[in-house]
Amino acid sequence: MRTLRPRGSDADRRPARGDMQTDSQRAAKKLVRPIVRALHAYVPGEQPKLKGLIKLNTNENPYPPSRKVLAAVKAATDGRLRLYPNPTAERLRERLAKLHRCRQENIVVGNGSDELLAMAVRAFVEPMPRAKPAPHSSASVVQYLVPGYSLYPVLADIHGAIKNAVSLESDFRLPTVADLKSQKPREGKARARWNFHAALTFITTPNAPTGRGYRTADLKKLCEAQNGVVVLDEAYVDFADENALELALNHPNVLVSRTFSKAYSLCFQRVGYFVGPTELIAALQKIRDSYNVNGLGQVAAEATLGDLGYYRANFTRIVAARDWLSRELTKLGFGVLPSRTNFILARPPRHPARQWLDALRKRRILVRWFDSPEVADYLRITIGRPAHMQALVRAAKAILR
Ligand code: PMP
Repeated sequence: MRTLRPRGSDADRRPARGDMQTDSQRAAKKLVRPIVRALHAYVPGEQPKLKGLIKLNTNENPYPPSRKVLAAVKAATDGRLRLYPNPTAERLRERLAKLHRCRQENIVVGNGSDELLAMAVRAFVEPMPRAKPAPHSSASVVQYLVPGYSLYPVLADIHGAIKNAVSLESDFRLPTVADLKSQKPREGKARARWNFHAALTFITTPNAPTGRGYRTADLKKLCEAQNGVVVLDEAYVDFADENALELALNHPNVLVSRTFSKAYSLCFQRVGYFVGPTELIAALQKIRDSYNVNGLGQVAAEATLGDLGYYRANFTRIVAARDWLSRELTKLGFGVLPSRTNFILARPPRHPARQWLDALRKRRILVRWFDSPEVADYLRITIGRPAHMQALVRAAKAILR
Protein backbone atom coordinates (compact mmCIF):
# COMPACT_ATOMS: atom_id res chain seq x y z
CA MET A 1 0.00 0.00 0.00
CA ARG A 2 1.37 3.46 -0.92
CA THR A 3 1.60 5.98 1.91
CA LEU A 4 0.15 9.39 1.24
CA ARG A 5 2.56 12.32 1.53
CA PRO A 6 1.75 15.99 1.54
CA ARG A 7 1.95 17.67 -1.88
CA GLY A 8 5.23 19.42 -2.60
CA SER A 9 7.28 17.02 -0.44
CA ASP A 10 10.58 15.56 -1.71
CA ALA A 11 8.69 12.41 -2.61
CA ASP A 12 6.65 14.40 -5.15
CA ARG A 13 9.79 15.60 -6.92
CA ARG A 14 11.39 12.16 -7.08
CA PRO A 15 10.48 10.09 -10.17
CA ALA A 16 7.73 7.64 -9.39
CA ARG A 17 8.66 3.98 -9.21
CA GLY A 18 8.60 2.42 -12.68
CA ASP A 19 9.19 5.89 -14.13
CA MET A 20 12.90 5.27 -14.63
CA GLN A 21 15.81 7.40 -15.72
CA THR A 22 16.87 7.37 -19.36
CA ASP A 23 19.77 4.90 -19.02
CA SER A 24 17.70 2.32 -17.26
CA GLN A 25 14.82 2.97 -19.65
CA ARG A 26 17.17 2.22 -22.52
CA ALA A 27 18.39 -0.92 -20.76
CA ALA A 28 14.84 -2.08 -20.15
CA LYS A 29 13.84 -1.42 -23.77
CA LYS A 30 16.68 -3.64 -24.95
CA LEU A 31 15.07 -6.54 -23.13
CA VAL A 32 12.07 -6.33 -25.45
CA ARG A 33 12.24 -8.32 -28.70
CA PRO A 34 12.98 -6.06 -31.71
CA ILE A 35 9.75 -7.00 -33.50
CA VAL A 36 7.74 -6.10 -30.41
CA ARG A 37 9.64 -2.81 -30.02
CA ALA A 38 8.79 -1.92 -33.60
CA LEU A 39 5.17 -3.08 -33.34
CA HIS A 40 2.25 -0.75 -34.02
CA ALA A 41 -0.32 -2.22 -31.66
CA TYR A 42 -3.97 -2.66 -32.63
CA VAL A 43 -6.05 0.39 -31.74
CA PRO A 44 -9.51 -0.55 -30.48
CA GLY A 45 -12.40 1.91 -30.75
CA GLU A 46 -12.77 4.31 -27.86
CA GLN A 47 -14.71 3.25 -24.76
CA PRO A 48 -15.55 6.73 -23.51
CA LYS A 49 -15.69 7.59 -19.82
CA LEU A 50 -18.22 10.34 -20.57
CA LYS A 51 -21.78 9.27 -19.78
CA GLY A 52 -24.73 9.91 -22.03
CA LEU A 53 -22.95 9.64 -25.39
CA ILE A 54 -24.69 7.83 -28.22
CA LYS A 55 -22.05 5.20 -28.84
CA LEU A 56 -21.94 4.12 -32.48
CA ASN A 57 -18.20 3.44 -32.77
CA THR A 58 -17.43 -0.20 -31.88
CA ASN A 59 -20.23 -2.25 -33.47
CA GLU A 60 -21.68 -3.29 -30.14
CA ASN A 61 -25.28 -4.48 -30.10
CA PRO A 62 -27.67 -1.81 -28.81
CA TYR A 63 -29.89 -4.43 -27.16
CA PRO A 64 -28.93 -6.19 -23.92
CA PRO A 65 -28.44 -9.95 -23.58
CA SER A 66 -31.71 -11.83 -23.07
CA ARG A 67 -33.16 -12.06 -19.56
CA LYS A 68 -32.44 -15.78 -19.51
CA VAL A 69 -28.76 -15.10 -20.20
CA LEU A 70 -28.50 -12.49 -17.45
CA ALA A 71 -30.28 -14.84 -15.03
CA ALA A 72 -27.92 -17.71 -15.92
CA VAL A 73 -24.84 -15.52 -15.32
CA LYS A 74 -26.26 -14.27 -12.00
CA ALA A 75 -27.11 -17.81 -10.91
CA ALA A 76 -23.53 -18.91 -11.64
CA THR A 77 -22.00 -16.03 -9.68
CA ASP A 78 -21.35 -17.60 -6.32
CA GLY A 79 -18.66 -19.53 -4.43
CA ARG A 80 -17.96 -21.59 -7.56
CA LEU A 81 -15.91 -18.68 -8.90
CA ARG A 82 -13.00 -20.26 -6.98
CA LEU A 83 -13.02 -23.25 -9.35
CA TYR A 84 -11.41 -23.51 -12.78
CA PRO A 85 -13.91 -23.55 -15.62
CA ASN A 86 -14.27 -26.46 -18.04
CA PRO A 87 -10.99 -26.30 -19.99
CA THR A 88 -12.48 -27.09 -23.41
CA ALA A 89 -15.87 -25.39 -22.98
CA GLU A 90 -17.33 -28.83 -23.55
CA ARG A 91 -21.02 -28.11 -22.97
CA LEU A 92 -20.88 -25.02 -25.15
CA ARG A 93 -19.15 -26.96 -27.94
CA GLU A 94 -21.80 -29.67 -27.65
CA ARG A 95 -24.57 -27.10 -28.12
CA LEU A 96 -22.73 -25.38 -30.96
CA ALA A 97 -22.17 -28.72 -32.68
CA LYS A 98 -25.91 -29.41 -32.52
CA LEU A 99 -26.71 -25.94 -33.88
CA HIS A 100 -24.30 -26.28 -36.80
CA ARG A 101 -24.95 -29.99 -37.41
CA CYS A 102 -21.34 -31.00 -36.94
CA ARG A 103 -19.19 -32.72 -34.31
CA GLN A 104 -17.70 -31.19 -31.17
CA GLU A 105 -14.32 -31.96 -32.72
CA ASN A 106 -15.15 -29.42 -35.43
CA ILE A 107 -15.26 -26.60 -32.87
CA VAL A 108 -12.77 -24.68 -30.75
CA VAL A 109 -13.87 -21.86 -28.45
CA GLY A 110 -11.80 -18.75 -27.73
CA ASN A 111 -11.60 -15.73 -25.48
CA GLY A 112 -13.39 -13.72 -28.14
CA SER A 113 -12.73 -14.54 -31.77
CA ASP A 114 -9.68 -12.25 -31.67
CA GLU A 115 -7.89 -14.87 -29.60
CA LEU A 116 -8.63 -17.54 -32.20
CA LEU A 117 -7.38 -15.34 -35.05
CA ALA A 118 -4.09 -14.97 -33.16
CA MET A 119 -4.00 -18.72 -32.51
CA ALA A 120 -4.47 -19.40 -36.23
CA VAL A 121 -1.35 -17.36 -36.98
CA ARG A 122 0.60 -19.27 -34.34
CA ALA A 123 -0.64 -22.67 -35.53
CA PHE A 124 -0.34 -22.31 -39.31
CA VAL A 125 2.35 -19.72 -40.08
CA GLU A 126 6.13 -20.14 -39.79
CA PRO A 127 7.74 -17.03 -38.31
CA MET A 128 10.13 -15.45 -40.80
CA PRO A 129 13.67 -16.72 -40.26
CA ARG A 130 15.85 -14.05 -38.57
CA ALA A 131 18.57 -14.65 -41.13
CA LYS A 132 17.70 -13.29 -44.58
CA PRO A 133 14.22 -14.58 -45.47
CA ALA A 134 13.70 -16.33 -48.77
CA PRO A 135 12.05 -13.74 -51.05
CA HIS A 136 8.65 -15.40 -51.10
CA SER A 137 8.50 -18.01 -48.44
CA SER A 138 4.76 -18.70 -48.56
CA ALA A 139 4.99 -20.67 -45.32
CA SER A 140 5.50 -17.34 -43.54
CA VAL A 141 2.82 -15.36 -45.35
CA VAL A 142 -0.30 -13.98 -43.68
CA GLN A 143 -2.55 -12.66 -46.44
CA TYR A 144 -5.62 -10.45 -46.27
CA LEU A 145 -7.67 -8.00 -48.31
CA VAL A 146 -7.65 -4.26 -47.69
CA PRO A 147 -9.59 -2.47 -46.45
CA GLY A 148 -10.26 -5.19 -43.90
CA TYR A 149 -10.08 -5.89 -40.20
CA SER A 150 -7.04 -3.96 -38.97
CA LEU A 151 -6.07 -6.64 -36.46
CA TYR A 152 -4.72 -9.05 -39.12
CA PRO A 153 -1.51 -7.09 -39.93
CA VAL A 154 -0.85 -6.64 -36.22
CA LEU A 155 -1.13 -10.39 -35.61
CA ALA A 156 1.27 -11.02 -38.49
CA ASP A 157 3.76 -8.49 -37.10
CA ILE A 158 3.61 -9.96 -33.58
CA HIS A 159 4.44 -13.36 -35.03
CA GLY A 160 7.20 -12.14 -37.33
CA ALA A 161 5.28 -13.23 -40.41
CA ILE A 162 5.32 -11.72 -43.91
CA LYS A 163 2.23 -9.62 -44.60
CA ASN A 164 0.54 -9.73 -47.98
CA ALA A 165 -2.13 -7.04 -48.13
CA VAL A 166 -4.06 -7.15 -51.40
CA SER A 167 -6.53 -4.41 -52.39
CA LEU A 168 -10.19 -5.09 -52.92
CA GLU A 169 -11.77 -3.87 -56.15
CA SER A 170 -12.34 -0.09 -56.30
CA ASP A 171 -15.98 -0.44 -55.17
CA PHE A 172 -14.79 -2.79 -52.39
CA ARG A 173 -16.06 -5.88 -54.20
CA LEU A 174 -14.28 -9.19 -53.68
CA PRO A 175 -11.85 -9.82 -56.57
CA THR A 176 -12.57 -13.00 -58.51
CA VAL A 177 -10.01 -15.81 -58.73
CA ALA A 178 -9.51 -14.84 -62.39
CA ASP A 179 -8.77 -11.20 -61.36
CA LEU A 180 -6.30 -12.38 -58.76
CA LYS A 181 -4.63 -14.75 -61.22
CA SER A 182 -4.39 -12.18 -63.99
CA GLN A 183 -3.08 -9.50 -61.62
CA LYS A 184 -5.33 -7.02 -63.36
CA PRO A 185 -4.22 -3.58 -62.12
CA ARG A 186 -6.80 -1.76 -60.05
CA GLU A 187 -7.61 1.61 -61.63
CA GLY A 188 -4.25 1.61 -63.30
CA LYS A 189 -2.45 1.00 -59.99
CA ALA A 190 -0.46 -2.17 -59.56
CA ARG A 191 -1.64 -4.15 -56.59
CA ALA A 192 0.22 -6.64 -54.41
CA ARG A 193 0.31 -10.05 -56.06
CA TRP A 194 -2.14 -12.51 -54.51
CA ASN A 195 -0.33 -15.53 -53.12
CA PHE A 196 -2.24 -18.77 -53.75
CA HIS A 197 0.21 -20.58 -51.47
CA ALA A 198 0.02 -18.21 -48.47
CA ALA A 199 0.14 -20.18 -45.23
CA LEU A 200 -2.87 -18.27 -43.93
CA THR A 201 -5.44 -16.03 -45.61
CA PHE A 202 -7.99 -13.99 -43.64
CA ILE A 203 -11.20 -12.93 -45.35
CA THR A 204 -13.73 -10.88 -43.40
CA THR A 205 -17.18 -11.78 -44.67
CA PRO A 206 -19.29 -9.71 -44.63
CA ASN A 207 -16.39 -7.31 -44.72
CA ALA A 208 -15.38 -4.76 -42.09
CA PRO A 209 -15.14 -1.81 -42.26
CA THR A 210 -16.92 -1.70 -45.63
CA GLY A 211 -19.99 -3.71 -44.59
CA ARG A 212 -20.11 -5.42 -48.01
CA GLY A 213 -21.41 -8.97 -48.18
CA TYR A 214 -19.67 -11.61 -50.30
CA ARG A 215 -21.40 -14.50 -52.06
CA THR A 216 -20.65 -17.96 -50.69
CA ALA A 217 -20.22 -19.22 -54.27
CA ASP A 218 -17.39 -16.66 -54.81
CA LEU A 219 -15.76 -17.48 -51.48
CA LYS A 220 -15.91 -21.17 -52.37
CA LYS A 221 -13.96 -20.57 -55.58
CA LEU A 222 -11.36 -18.57 -53.67
CA CYS A 223 -11.01 -21.20 -50.91
CA GLU A 224 -10.66 -23.94 -53.51
CA ALA A 225 -7.96 -22.02 -55.38
CA GLN A 226 -6.03 -21.47 -52.15
CA ASN A 227 -3.39 -23.95 -50.97
CA GLY A 228 -2.97 -22.67 -47.42
CA VAL A 229 -5.49 -22.23 -44.62
CA VAL A 230 -8.33 -19.73 -45.19
CA VAL A 231 -10.10 -18.19 -42.20
CA LEU A 232 -13.49 -16.76 -43.13
CA ASP A 233 -14.10 -14.23 -40.37
CA GLU A 234 -17.88 -14.13 -40.01
CA ALA A 235 -18.03 -11.79 -37.00
CA TYR A 236 -21.02 -9.95 -38.56
CA VAL A 237 -22.67 -12.76 -40.48
CA ASP A 238 -25.93 -12.81 -38.50
CA PHE A 239 -26.87 -9.51 -40.12
CA ALA A 240 -26.25 -10.90 -43.63
CA ASP A 241 -28.40 -13.09 -45.83
CA GLU A 242 -25.90 -15.88 -46.40
CA ASN A 243 -23.06 -17.53 -44.54
CA ALA A 244 -20.21 -19.79 -45.56
CA LEU A 245 -20.29 -22.31 -42.73
CA GLU A 246 -20.68 -25.23 -45.14
CA LEU A 247 -17.25 -24.40 -46.61
CA ALA A 248 -15.60 -25.04 -43.23
CA LEU A 249 -17.27 -28.43 -42.98
CA ASN A 250 -16.50 -29.52 -46.55
CA HIS A 251 -13.01 -28.21 -47.25
CA PRO A 252 -9.77 -29.33 -45.61
CA ASN A 253 -8.32 -25.80 -45.52
CA VAL A 254 -11.25 -23.61 -44.39
CA LEU A 255 -12.10 -22.32 -40.91
CA VAL A 256 -15.10 -20.14 -40.16
CA SER A 257 -14.79 -17.69 -37.27
CA ARG A 258 -17.85 -16.62 -35.28
CA THR A 259 -18.36 -14.49 -32.20
CA PHE A 260 -20.97 -13.96 -29.50
CA SER A 261 -19.87 -10.31 -29.27
CA LYS A 262 -21.88 -8.55 -31.95
CA ALA A 263 -25.11 -10.33 -32.79
CA TYR A 264 -25.43 -11.91 -29.33
CA SER A 265 -24.70 -8.81 -27.20
CA LEU A 266 -21.83 -10.41 -25.29
CA CYS A 267 -18.71 -8.30 -26.04
CA PHE A 268 -18.06 -8.05 -22.30
CA GLN A 269 -17.82 -11.81 -21.86
CA ARG A 270 -15.36 -12.49 -24.71
CA VAL A 271 -16.56 -15.67 -26.40
CA GLY A 272 -15.91 -16.66 -30.00
CA TYR A 273 -15.40 -19.91 -31.86
CA PHE A 274 -14.01 -21.50 -34.99
CA VAL A 275 -15.73 -24.23 -36.98
CA GLY A 276 -13.59 -26.37 -39.28
CA PRO A 277 -11.94 -29.67 -40.18
CA THR A 278 -11.04 -31.79 -37.14
CA GLU A 279 -7.31 -31.76 -38.00
CA LEU A 280 -7.09 -27.96 -38.00
CA ILE A 281 -9.27 -27.70 -34.90
CA ALA A 282 -7.09 -30.26 -33.08
CA ALA A 283 -3.99 -28.20 -33.89
CA LEU A 284 -5.61 -25.11 -32.39
CA GLN A 285 -6.73 -27.04 -29.29
CA LYS A 286 -3.09 -28.05 -28.75
CA ILE A 287 -1.79 -24.49 -28.55
CA ARG A 288 -4.71 -23.00 -26.61
CA ASP A 289 -4.21 -21.71 -23.04
CA SER A 290 -5.57 -24.37 -20.70
CA TYR A 291 -8.53 -22.28 -19.48
CA ASN A 292 -8.85 -19.76 -22.27
CA VAL A 293 -12.59 -19.20 -21.94
CA ASN A 294 -13.77 -17.91 -18.58
CA GLY A 295 -16.57 -19.77 -16.78
CA LEU A 296 -19.18 -17.00 -16.81
CA GLY A 297 -18.54 -16.52 -20.53
CA GLN A 298 -19.27 -20.21 -21.12
CA VAL A 299 -22.47 -19.99 -19.05
CA ALA A 300 -23.61 -16.86 -20.91
CA ALA A 301 -22.90 -18.33 -24.34
CA GLU A 302 -24.70 -21.60 -23.51
CA ALA A 303 -27.75 -19.69 -22.26
CA THR A 304 -27.66 -17.55 -25.42
CA LEU A 305 -28.03 -20.66 -27.55
CA GLY A 306 -31.12 -21.54 -25.49
CA ASP A 307 -32.83 -18.24 -26.39
CA LEU A 308 -32.03 -17.66 -30.06
CA GLY A 309 -35.53 -16.36 -30.83
CA TYR A 310 -34.83 -13.23 -28.75
CA TYR A 311 -31.64 -12.51 -30.72
CA ARG A 312 -33.19 -13.18 -34.11
CA ALA A 313 -35.87 -10.59 -33.35
CA ASN A 314 -33.05 -8.12 -32.59
CA PHE A 315 -31.29 -8.91 -35.89
CA THR A 316 -34.50 -7.96 -37.71
CA ARG A 317 -34.75 -4.68 -35.78
CA ILE A 318 -31.09 -3.85 -36.45
CA VAL A 319 -31.36 -4.64 -40.16
CA ALA A 320 -34.50 -2.45 -40.40
CA ALA A 321 -32.70 0.42 -38.61
CA ARG A 322 -29.67 -0.06 -40.90
CA ASP A 323 -31.83 0.21 -44.01
CA TRP A 324 -33.69 3.23 -42.65
CA LEU A 325 -30.43 5.03 -41.75
CA SER A 326 -28.90 4.21 -45.14
CA ARG A 327 -31.89 5.75 -46.91
CA GLU A 328 -32.00 8.86 -44.71
CA LEU A 329 -28.27 9.56 -45.00
CA THR A 330 -28.41 9.00 -48.76
CA LYS A 331 -31.13 11.67 -48.95
CA LEU A 332 -28.74 14.06 -47.15
CA GLY A 333 -26.01 13.45 -49.72
CA PHE A 334 -23.98 10.75 -47.96
CA GLY A 335 -22.51 8.02 -50.16
CA VAL A 336 -23.65 4.93 -48.25
CA LEU A 337 -22.22 1.54 -49.18
CA PRO A 338 -24.67 -1.38 -49.17
CA SER A 339 -24.21 -3.14 -45.83
CA ARG A 340 -24.78 -6.71 -44.69
CA THR A 341 -23.56 -5.98 -41.14
CA ASN A 342 -24.63 -4.01 -38.05
CA PHE A 343 -22.77 -0.93 -39.27
CA ILE A 344 -22.55 1.19 -42.40
CA LEU A 345 -19.63 2.86 -44.13
CA ALA A 346 -20.72 6.25 -45.41
CA ARG A 347 -18.90 9.06 -47.24
CA PRO A 348 -20.24 12.30 -45.76
CA PRO A 349 -20.96 15.34 -47.95
CA ARG A 350 -19.46 18.82 -47.87
CA HIS A 351 -16.87 18.44 -45.06
CA PRO A 352 -14.02 15.92 -44.69
CA ALA A 353 -14.96 12.79 -42.73
CA ARG A 354 -12.50 13.69 -39.96
CA GLN A 355 -14.34 16.97 -39.45
CA TRP A 356 -17.68 15.13 -39.29
CA LEU A 357 -16.27 12.87 -36.59
CA ASP A 358 -15.54 15.90 -34.40
CA ALA A 359 -18.78 17.70 -35.27
CA LEU A 360 -20.82 14.62 -34.31
CA ARG A 361 -18.86 14.17 -31.12
CA LYS A 362 -19.68 17.76 -30.15
CA ARG A 363 -23.29 16.66 -30.50
CA ARG A 364 -22.55 13.68 -28.22
CA ILE A 365 -22.57 11.07 -30.99
CA LEU A 366 -19.54 8.84 -31.30
CA VAL A 367 -18.77 7.17 -34.65
CA ARG A 368 -15.53 5.72 -36.06
CA TRP A 369 -13.10 7.17 -38.55
CA PHE A 370 -10.05 5.25 -39.81
CA ASP A 371 -6.88 7.06 -40.74
CA SER A 372 -6.08 4.79 -43.69
CA PRO A 373 -6.08 5.96 -47.31
CA GLU A 374 -8.75 3.55 -48.62
CA VAL A 375 -11.41 4.63 -46.14
CA ALA A 376 -10.28 8.04 -44.83
CA ASP A 377 -13.18 9.71 -46.69
CA TYR A 378 -15.73 7.60 -44.82
CA LEU A 379 -17.30 7.25 -41.39
CA ARG A 380 -18.16 3.86 -39.97
CA ILE A 381 -21.42 4.06 -38.09
CA THR A 382 -22.71 1.28 -35.86
CA ILE A 383 -26.43 0.65 -36.05
CA GLY A 384 -28.13 1.51 -32.77
CA ARG A 385 -31.71 1.72 -31.59
CA PRO A 386 -34.17 3.66 -33.80
CA ALA A 387 -33.99 6.68 -31.44
CA HIS A 388 -30.18 6.75 -31.82
CA MET A 389 -30.48 6.62 -35.59
CA GLN A 390 -33.00 9.47 -35.55
CA ALA A 391 -30.67 11.52 -33.33
CA LEU A 392 -27.83 10.90 -35.78
CA VAL A 393 -29.92 12.05 -38.75
CA ARG A 394 -30.98 15.18 -36.81
CA ALA A 395 -27.33 15.92 -35.97
CA ALA A 396 -26.29 15.42 -39.60
CA LYS A 397 -29.01 17.83 -40.76
CA ALA A 398 -27.81 20.40 -38.19
CA ILE A 399 -24.20 20.03 -39.36
CA LEU A 400 -25.28 20.57 -42.96
CA ARG A 401 -27.44 23.61 -42.13
N1 PMP B 1 -13.48 -9.95 -36.57
C1 PMP B 1 -13.89 -8.74 -36.95
C2 PMP B 1 -14.01 -8.45 -38.39
C3 PMP B 1 -14.18 -7.77 -35.99
O1 PMP B 1 -14.57 -6.54 -36.36
C4 PMP B 1 -14.04 -8.08 -34.63
C5 PMP B 1 -14.34 -7.06 -33.56
N2 PMP B 1 -13.40 -6.04 -33.44
C6 PMP B 1 -13.60 -9.36 -34.29
C7 PMP B 1 -13.34 -10.27 -35.29
C8 PMP B 1 -13.34 -9.77 -32.87
O2 PMP B 1 -14.46 -9.90 -32.09
P1 PMP B 1 -14.39 -10.61 -30.69
O3 PMP B 1 -12.94 -10.80 -30.31
O4 PMP B 1 -15.12 -9.71 -29.78
O5 PMP B 1 -15.05 -11.94 -30.88
